[in-house]
Amino acid sequence: MEQTYSGGCLCGAVRYQVSGVARHLCFCHCHSCRRATGAPAVPWGTFARAAFRVTRGQLAEFRSSDAVTRGFCAACGSSLTYHNAARAHEIDVTLASLDEPTRLTPQMHVWVDDKLPWVEISDGRPQFGTGPGADTP
Ligand SMILES: [Zn+2]
Ligand SMILES: [Zn+2]
Repeated sequence: MEQTYSGGCLCGAVRYQVSGVARHLCFCHCHSCRRATGAPAVPWGTFARAAFRVTRGQLAEFRSSDAVTRGFCAACGSSLTYHNAARAHEIDVTLASLDEPTRLTPQMHVWVDDKLPWVEISDGRPQFGTGPGADTP
């Protein structure tokens, strides 16, 4: 079923809309997501890149590794997107930046090999040591 989601950063300068079926709903525990957000794990959902558009302002971008570009608000710093050249037709969106973040629920934990020792996973969701497919942090 086609769904449309809207979201944005903390200060409101950047707004986005994305539609379609969200796949690979996860918490990512990788060191790169941690540094990018200042949080111990980040909830992500994957959409078709063509279904994502910025509706206000513009994404600032940071290349966090060779294949990975992270999108954020240059004014307030909110992390909004992740794009990996290995799956160029997709874009990941931070589920916590959605206007209605309860509509999508993470289904698994990825990059658990990087997990901080003081984070205890006890929600019963599947855990994976690294990322899916060719993903890099
Ligand atoms: Zn902002
Ligand atoms: Zn990550």
